[in-house]
Amino acid sequence: GEFITVKEFADKLGKPVAEVIKALIFTGIMAGINQEIDFETAEKAAKRLEIDIVKSKDDASGISDEKEEDLLDVNLEKRPPIVTVMGHVDHGKTSLLDAIRKAKVTESEAGGITQHIGAYTITINGEKITFLDTPGHEAFTAMRARGAQVTDIVILVVAADDGIMPQTAEAINHCKAANVPMIVAINKIDVEGANIDKVKQELTEYGLVAEEWGGDTICVPVSAKQRMGIDDLLEMVLLTAEVEELKADSNRRAAGTVIESELDKGRGPVATLLVQKGTLNVGDSILVGSTYGRIRAMFDDKGKKIKSAGPSIPVEILGLSEVPQAGDKFHEVKDEKTARGMAEARKIKEKSLQQSTMRVSLEDLYSQVK
Ligand code: GDP
Ligand code: MG
Repeated sequence: GEFITVKEFADKLGKPVAEVIKALIFTGIMAGINQEIDFETAEKAAKRLEIDIVKSKDDASGISDEKEEDLLDVNLEKRPPIVTVMGHVDHGKTSLLDAIRKAKVTESEAGGITQHIGAYTITINGEKITFLDTPGHEAFTAMRARGAQVTDIVILVVAADDGIMPQTAEAINHCKAANVPMIVAINKIDVEGANIDKVKQELTEYGLVAEEWGGDTICVPVSAKQRMGIDDLLEMVLLTAEVEELKADSNRRAAGTVIESELDKGRGPVATLLVQKGTLNVGDSILVGSTYGRIRAMFDDKGKKIKSAGPSIPVEILGLSEVPQAGDKFHEVKDEKTARGMAEARKIKEKSLQQSTMRVSLEDLYSQVK
């Protein structure tokens, strides 16, 4: 259906109205400045102006529970990939994340080697990659269960001396179900008894055929301990990201997902957020699940105070009224008052849902007693 006037659309695109009307004419639509156009029409006109737009439905659920509101993402730009490391216990997930972080932290950042939050961003030849360091499976599964999709690429760690184990298989299934591209890091190649080919053979049983065997699964032999193969692995991550064409609009209200949260004695509720769209700034008001707040302070992955963060960047924030849950989505809203109102509305809704389920179970109980 219709959803935006030509004037609003032009504003969003940052183009003169006349130019947008002209683009519409080229696509066969005669529209006045206050006329409403639908998404498909807007998309055609935008294409004519060489701008990519996407309809962002997910904002609607966060911004209003009652009214479906469409927001437009315009001017999509390349964004860094968000990578999660998965694999069987003791196959080297933590060691690999450490090796990557240490390999890419420059001298000047030496003090920043200590990680402060459950995610970090590295830079290779000007290209950024964000790694989520949340306890692999649980976080991934919990977030997926809550409908939050945060990972663009999964690095599947398989120890070359152990091969595919139950949690490896589980991870493969998660990735397939979520349609997330996988890169296999065959780890511990320094260990006696390491057998790279055996791992590749086992992978085929899951439909994953290594590239060098004529398939399309990227396998990189590494040793997290000896720091071998790390650069190759990161190169493959960037290559995969390139193929995925990961994009986001940084010039809009911020939205993203809570990665972790806690109640700090001195600082109050603290949350690690992954910005997925737009730019988050100190002073912004956000709605997070059924809590809200105005961002009082923001820190990067090295604990350094920052003022803003764009797409795919993890940050730690202070200023929330309560501790949100990992997997909760956040949305920037107009002001704190709006955020509070929406959070309260959500709380009331949650409560009434709880009460109605309770009533049902009580009735069930009585009917059984009778
Ligand atoms: P996680 O449970 O998957 O996070 O595994 P860890 O990173 O904790 O590693 C489990 C054990 O394997 C630790 O004792 C690591 O030191 C060891 N380890 C990890 N990677 C390598 C490797 O490349 N080579 C060798 N020899 N040991 C490794
Ligand atoms: Mg670990």
